[in-house]
Parts: sequence; C-alpha cells; structure tokens
Amino acid sequence: MEVPRTDRMRAMSGSTYDAVVVGAGPNGLAAAVELARNGRRVAVLEAGERVGGGTRSDESTLPGFVHDLGSAIHPLGYASPFFANLPLQEHGLEWIHPPAPLAHPLDDGTAAVLERSTARTGATLGRDAEAYRRLIDPLAEDARRIQATLSGSRSLPRHPLALASAGLRSLGSARGFAEGAFEGERARALFAGNAAHSFLALEKRPSALFGVMLGTLGHAFGWPFPRGGSQSIADALASYLLSLGGEIFTGVRVRSVEEVPKTRTVLFDVTPRQLLDIAGEHLTERYAGGLKRYRYGPGVFKLDLALDAPIPWEAQECLRAGTVHLGGTLEDISAGEAAVARGEHPERPFVLLAQQSLFDPTRAPEGKHTVWAYCHVPNGSTFDMTGRIEAQIERFAPGFGDRILARSAWGPADLERWNPNLVGGDINGGFMNVRQLFARPMFRPNPYSTSAPGLYLCSSSTPPGGAVHGLCGFMAARSALRYLKA
Ligand SMILES: Cc1cc2nc3c(=O)[nH]c(=O)nc-3n(C[C@H](O)[C@H](O)[C@H](O)COP(=O)(O)OP(=O)(O)OC[C@H]3O[C@@H](n4cnc5c(N)ncnc54)[C@H](O)[C@@H]3O)c2cc1C
Repeated sequence: MEVPRTDRMRAMSGSTYDAVVVGAGPNGLAAAVELARNGRRVAVLEAGERVGGGTRSDESTLPGFVHDLGSAIHPLGYASPFFANLPLQEHGLEWIHPPAPLAHPLDDGTAAVLERSTARTGATLGRDAEAYRRLIDPLAEDARRIQATLSGSRSLPRHPLALASAGLRSLGSARGFAEGAFEGERARALFAGNAAHSFLALEKRPSALFGVMLGTLGHAFGWPFPRGGSQSIADALASYLLSLGGEIFTGVRVRSVEEVPKTRTVLFDVTPRQLLDIAGEHLTERYAGGLKRYRYGPGVFKLDLALDAPIPWEAQECLRAGTVHLGGTLEDISAGEAAVARGEHPERPFVLLAQQSLFDPTRAPEGKHTVWAYCHVPNGSTFDMTGRIEAQIERFAPGFGDRILARSAWGPADLERWNPNLVGGDINGGFMNVRQLFARPMFRPNPYSTSAPGLYLCSSSTPPGGAVHGLCGFMAARSALRYLKA
C-alpha cells in the first residue's frame, strides 16, 4: 500500500521506502535488520527518544548506576537463532555469563541453584538430583542441536522420544508437572520459580512449559546479560541496521498510518489495541474483531535499587547467580500467583531479581551495586508493591534494607507511559495462555499479516511471543519480503 507523507516525514527523508517499521523495540529492530540485509530500503520510527523499547537501560536512581528499565536476563536472546546469525558483537554486544544462571533461596538458609551442569544443580536438590538430571540432560542436548539447525548447521535431535514426552507434559500445569517429576521441595520450588515466568497460576496450563523451557535453556545456553545494560542489545541492532543503510527516526509517535512516509509495507511493533488505533480503518471488521478480543495478561510492578554493597544473602550461593527467584516453596509461589490471577495483591509476592553489577562493573560505581526486581500484579493495578518486594528480599537476606541508597519504583501506569506496548503493565504483549501462545494475535495461517495487504504486525503479540529474541520481527519481515517480491 502507498500512504501519503506528512511534511514532517518529508523533512526527515526525501524518498520512498520498501518498508517502514513503527517502533524500535527488539522485534521492530530485528524486522528492520532482516529487511535491510535483504537489500530493502527501510526506516524505523520510534516514539521514544532512544531505541530499545523493553530493552532500554538508564541511570534511573543515582548517577553511575545503570538500571535495566525493562528486560534484564536473556536466555532467549542468547539462544535466538536469528541473533546468532547477526554480527552483533562487532556492534558492541558482549554477553556476560554469571557463574550460575539462577539461585532459589529457601527459608532454611540454603538455596537450590541452577548451575550450568545438571550434576552440580542436582547436588543442591537433595533426593531429586537423579530425576532432575534424567529430565534435563536429553532436553538440554537437543535444545543445542535444534538451535544449531535453526541457525543453519544441520544437527538432528538425539532424543526425540524424551523431547516429545517432555513437550506433551509441559502443555500441562506446573504443579502437575513438578509433583509428577520430583518428590522433594527443593526441585519443585526451583521448577515453580521458572514456571511462574508464565504469568499463569501454577495450576493452569501451559505453565509447565515455562518451567521446562527456562530450566533447559539455563543448562543448554546459560542465562546471560549484556555488558553495560540491556540497551546494548538494541544499540547493537540499531548500529548494524545503520551500517546496512537503514534509517532510524526517534521521537516520532505514529498516531495514524497516514503519518507514515511513502512506503510499500508497514510493520507495526505494537500490540493489537494500538494497531486498532493507528490503522483500524484499513482493517476488515473480522480482523479488527479478532484484535478487540485479544487478551492482555497480568502486569508487573518494577523496582530498581541502588545499594552501597551486595545483597547480604543468607545462602551465600546466591552471590554466584545472575538471577535470584524469591518466593520459597512451590506452595508459597503458587499461592502468590493464584492471588494475582484472582485480581489480588499477594502479601508475599513471587519476586524475580537480577544482580548484574556483581559480574559487570560497568553497572555501578566501584563497590556499589544495582538490583533489578519485579513482581506480578493484576493488569492495570495501582497498588504500591515496593514494601512487599523489599520484605521478600529481606526474608532471604536479613539486613538488606540498610544497604539501599536509592530506589525507583514503577507500577503498570508508569510502565505504559514509558512504553505504550506495556498495556496495563503486561510485559509480554498479551496473555500467554494456551490459546494465545499458539494463536497470536488470533488464529490465522500467517499471524504476522493483517487483513490489509502490506500491513504487518511484528511485535511480541505474534508468535513466539514475549521476551527479547527478535523472532517475531524476523518472521514478520520474512512475510513482508515475500509480499515485496510478489
Ligand atoms: C519490566 C520488564 C522486564 C522484562 N524482563 C525481561 C527479561 O528479563 N528477559 C526478556 O527476554 N524479556 C523481558 N521483558 C520482555 C521484553 O522486554 C519484551 O518481550 C520485548 O521488549 C518485546 O519486544 P517488542 O519489540 O515486541 O516490543 P517493545 O520492546 O515493547 O518495543 C516497542 C517499541 O515501539 C514503540 N512504539 C509503540 N507505539 C509506537 C507508536 N505509535 N509510534 C512509534 N513508536 C511506538 C515503543 O516506544 C517501543 O520502543 C521484560 C519487559 C519489561 C517491561
């Protein structure tokens, strides 16, 4: 389709594009890169003053303390077959692997620890050591093989039966999976923490999928983060895009598709609600109806802290991990997540915490530290969870509160003001229930195309959904490239 240029856009650029991408989150940038490396003329229009969307970093507490405003830990970014094929290191991206991906402290002062090796992990899981190793070893080996295949080198899975069996079981609930696979509290707790990334009650399908997938990725690839902040992922993508001849305009909020400069295709790195606002009149009633029925998930309450020393974990092993899950047992975590699903605010929320500065000195002044944390809250919640998050940290690290120098707390409304894709505080671009995991944003043979020829959706509201991996953008760009060739 061809849309008229506004004066503003005419001032920005003098010519016609093959593709304009609205939004410079990791998926928008990924889409633009894929189009540009296939020889297409592409421009990206970003509402914010900097590229990155959910991968932005900033000194939001005190000077010299670099906080990840959105994403922090990137197992999927590191394993992404698309990112793996781009020269992002040459554009400044450097991954840091903490000695252990994840620690999960318990009330007895010890911790279950997800180490790179399943044997070492098992040593922290008591009687479930062998069951854990038997479950994860074949999955981790095949995850590496599948990633290699998707990245271009052929490598067939070695354990197809184990893969199929775990795949089927992981479509069930996390509670069912954990209670079936493990006997003891430690392994069940570790699994529950990973499964809670789903934003689903742990009794709901397919919460087990997140437990299996994140655990497997931890062993197969690690849970790394970028030196200098998550912003480095977006900056590396943007720098590569510019080197390919792509153009990026920041500070441009697109309110209507008519504002987009002259182009043959437009790819939207936005969620269904915004797509309706921006391009609703170009969409069929049926497609627009599907977008209106799209569901958003629970929100998050985000807390960034500047500390004058590391967190004084009771379980010392936690100091070896980039990520720490705070919530205690499967029962505790399940109670908290069930409360969120009922629209309540748990007294003891499940908290996801990252402590990047322990392993990346660029994040804070010497001897000082940053903490990134969030918990789940009902969509659109206005309740201040700061005290409850800090109490959960204090539960496993007595004395932690005395080390706080400054804090920056963001509820759902603050998050959405910062990035309109975070509707009601939903960080995944839409609920990840069974239906919307597969039919995203709705059931269509090509989920990236819209009902309007030339208009595409490329955000995490398309498969495979939330997290920083660029695959939604890549797949949408492939669709747009087919259209441009036709
Ligand atoms: C607090 C938080 C923690 C997270 N933690 C992790 C994590 O640890 N690991 C992980 O992998 N993922 C994490 N995520 C999720 C991850 O950030 C998202 O899944 C990912 O950023 C989605 O990428 P996207 O490109 O689809 O959208 P976004 O990153 O949301 O980018 C969309 C961009 O579009 C722009 N935009 C929107 N509307 C317009 C408009 N009308 N005109 C112009 N520009 C517009 C926005 O400003 C934004 O820059 C987290 C997110 C948040 C918020």
